[in-house]
Amino acid sequence: MLSLSELTDLLATPQKIVITTHHKPDGDAMGSSLGLYAYLIQKGHHVKVITPTDYPYFLHWLPNNSDVIVYTENQQDAEVYVAEAALIFCLDFNTLSRINELGELIRNADGYKVMIDHHLEPEDFDDFRHWNINACAAAQLVYDFIVNVLNDGASMTKDIATCLYTGIMTDSGSFRFPSATSTVYRIGADLIDLGAEHWRIHQQVYDNATESRLRFLGHCLTNKLEVIREFNTAIITVNAEELKQFDIVTGDTEGIVNYALSVNGIKLAAFIIERADRVKLSLRSTGEFPANEICKKYFNGGGHRNAAGGASDKPLEETVQIFKSLLKDYEQQLLA
Ligand code: 5GP
Ligand code: MN
Repeated sequence: MLSLSELTDLLATPQKIVITTHHKPDGDAMGSSLGLYAYLIQKGHHVKVITPTDYPYFLHWLPNNSDVIVYTENQQDAEVYVAEAALIFCLDFNTLSRINELGELIRNADGYKVMIDHHLEPEDFDDFRHWNINACAAAQLVYDFIVNVLNDGASMTKDIATCLYTGIMTDSGSFRFPSATSTVYRIGADLIDLGAEHWRIHQQVYDNATESRLRFLGHCLTNKLEVIREFNTAIITVNAEELKQFDIVTGDTEGIVNYALSVNGIKLAAFIIERADRVKLSLRSTGEFPANEICKKYFNGGGHRNAAGGASDKPLEETVQIFKSLLKDYEQQLLA
């Protein structure tokens, strides 16, 4: 365990630090990581951001993106940095299985592990925790960590603000989910005052699609969307061949599940995709419907009530059938 005073003592002198985040990082994973990175390098620390895998091209504009080490592309260096780190910040995840092979490396590393996260049910691998499931984003918790835990709001910069705004914007559905409380809006306003260009950030993340993504989206909506009125559920299923046909790269499928959820009356939406190693499911729900419960119970995953994910080692068609067959168990909630 590491107390707050021990942590602040450590941070008072330059340290070797690793920041890591979850598999296939999204806007919050990269925004919170690079936001904390910009803060810590400014304080004179030797910091490396290590992601377990690659991440979408529409996040590559983030400040200091070129410093990021992708574990699968640079395993040897990453292993040395993890082994030598005095502190390892774990952002936007709370179980080591979410970071693939990096998980066991970090579990066995000597450095203190600091978890900054907003997911349910954290695993007990950390030494210090800044954790709150009511936060809309890990980036909100990084803001809170710098401003209210370290009492160092004076050190906030435009780069930090830009990264943290990106995390909050992407995880709160552009400030529209119930998690976007008035506090979140105040933090957003503060980040804008610090130099975050909200309009530019939105444009770089959301108006930056490849042509293939748009054509693939058209294909999904025209040919692959299945609306099951009987259970107020909509599913989009995509096989490996289609991914190849449309030249789909990391990031191109992001957010497509939300189109399925936007159909009137739909309470549960699923995007089921045949990746190289496994079949991956992305679920979204409205209101009280527990999408994370389905992911946890049937697909070895988890997440938030309204946005969750998981995977299946069964073939695509069989996975889709399993998903469809479990809907009747949730009939009451889906039709309520
Ligand atoms: P997405 O559908 O965008 O991949 O993920 C939505 C939410 O579910 C995110 O909050 C993410 O952290 C969580 N999630 C996605 N995949 C998994 C998984 O395989 N395991 C767990 N525990 N959570 C996941
Ligand atoms: Mn998040």
